[in-house]
Amino acid sequence: MASLTRVLVTGAGGFIGHHLTKYLVERNYWVRGVDIKEPEYEPTAADEFQLLDLRYRENCLQATKDIDEVYGLAANMGGIGFIETNKAVIVRDNTLINLQTIEAARENSVKKYLYTSSACIYPGYLQKEADVTPLKEEHAYPADAEDGYGWEKLYMERVCRHYTEDFGLDTRVVRFHNIFGPLGTYDGGREKSPAAISRKVALADDGTSIEVWGDGKQTRSYCYIDDCVEGIYRLMQSEHREPLNLGQDRMISIDELVEIVSGISGKKIGMDYDLTKPQGVRGRNSDNTKLREVLKWEPSVSLEDGLEKTYWWIEGELRKKGLLKEAVAVA
Ligand code: NAD
Repeated sequence: MASLTRVLVTGAGGFIGHHLTKYLVERNYWVRGVDIKEPEYEPTAADEFQLLDLRYRENCLQATKDIDEVYGLAANMGGIGFIETNKAVIVRDNTLINLQTIEAARENSVKKYLYTSSACIYPGYLQKEADVTPLKEEHAYPADAEDGYGWEKLYMERVCRHYTEDFGLDTRVVRFHNIFGPLGTYDGGREKSPAAISRKVALADDGTSIEVWGDGKQTRSYCYIDDCVEGIYRLMQSEHREPLNLGQDRMISIDELVEIVSGISGKKIGMDYDLTKPQGVRGRNSDNTKLREVLKWEPSVSLEDGLEKTYWWIEGELRKKGLLKEAVAVA
């Protein structure tokens, strides 16, 4: 019997890494998950899970030992509020994690390496209007990435290319555009807009308003987690070594996002805009031309379906914590 492909998922205690681990185990891969923390909301599906801090070389060597393929998802990251106020820590930690991991992978003769980049590498000067032109992969240069977080991503994309050209390590680079879904962070300051809005709506009384960062007119596209892991896997199987967008190309405003989530909750919710809060670029959308060409596939879960699952999962978590007001039964 052929032996199973041995895979390392770094960041397997985090949102995408946890879902990807489940996906790979279901496809009969042997998976080692590594993170500084266990998955928060359910046990890992990994065959082996090691708690390791990947900023350190010896831990990266241990993590990549006897491994065929690495999916690198470990990162110190969060939503716009977190990345705008923790630039030094993010650049320091993520540079250490990613450089040490790719070098250890090379030393341990790993065959394939996937790096998870972000739409945050795209230049600010292309994202100044809400009605933005969707971003194509080649728009990355001339570079003007998101300060801190985005520059480390862009730098690591190039490191991957150099490791392929100079050392023969077969790399893949994926640029995620706002991935969301159940089992993702929804409070504590690192959460992203779909989770933050779902939490606020779940906690709000019918007929009241929630706080919205910015004026609500800023635009984004959102990709559901099941499509994300499917896309990662397809990219890993492809021969495409250049960076590839992975996101939805349906652009909506934050106002529209709040309206959809309110509709799902069955409540009527207003918006209180806080213009002092960070809101990131004015508009962002993914151009999926290359994604379709390369993967012969594209994300298909609708925003409404994805938000429905996400909202009710977050509502359930808040309920378990006793944070929701129960409706009083009227005799
Ligand atoms: P996440 O924060 O849920 O997961 C990242 C995991 O990395 C966490 O569990 C964290 O504990 C772990 N980690 C942090 N420091 C570590 C260290 N020193 N050693 C080992 N593990 C460490 O984030 P995610 O949303 O699952 O993101 C996964 C990857 O995708 C990251 O590279 C992220 O930058 C990228 N990305 C995500 C999105 C998105 O919308 N979620 C968008 C663009 C890019």
